[in-house]
Amino acid sequence: MAIKIKSGKVIVYAPEHICEQWLYSWVNSKSDWIASKLAQGVEHTKNRPLTTNKIAIFGDKFTIIKQAQALSFIDFDKKTLNLDESKDSWGELLKLLEMTLSDYLDMAIAKYQPDINAQFDTLKIRLYKSRWGSFSSKGVIAFNTLLVGAPKWVIEYVVVHELCHYHVMAHNSSFWSLVNIHYGEKYQDARKYLKEHGRALMIEN
Ligand SMILES: [Zn+2]
Repeated sequence: MAIKIKSGKVIVYAPEHICEQWLYSWVNSKSDWIASKLAQGVEHTKNRPLTTNKIAIFGDKFTIIKQAQALSFIDFDKKTLNLDESKDSWGELLKLLEMTLSDYLDMAIAKYQPDINAQFDTLKIRLYKSRWGSFSSKGVIAFNTLLVGAPKWVIEYVVVHELCHYHVMAHNSSFWSLVNIHYGEKYQDARKYLKEHGRALMIEN
């Protein structure tokens, strides 16, 4: 008896005339192992935008163009991200994503902060492996650079979420009702979006 995992598929090897019932329960007993192996597989299939020349911005697919040019920039009409090929492409890409997210965050924070009445001292944008944002009692609000790949309504949800942490740190019912008041019921769709598509927004060099 053996289980192999190959390109996201689970293959079970068993003798020909084995009791099917028994086989199912045996495979079931290995489900934790299978789940962890599958998760590892997904980890390895992070997007490599500099290889595929595709990158998500605001929920849309943009094409990466590498050429000699004075400045790296994003063309929102043509949906292209233009990188100066003479510079470090990965660094240029992250810088552009960060600037784009930063501009949108400024707008979104200005939109929600007065009503939520939340204060912070420092805003950070950086690459995180497993979070979209954070809010610390020390006055630092932080966002994952890769949030720029999500649609704007999802980015706004994360902004509201982190700002609401100013009042309630735990993810308890009073926290969620605060999010509901300031963002609306659609916050459930936004959470679902990040659960379902979050992994696809992860990139590596
Ligand atoms: Zn939170």
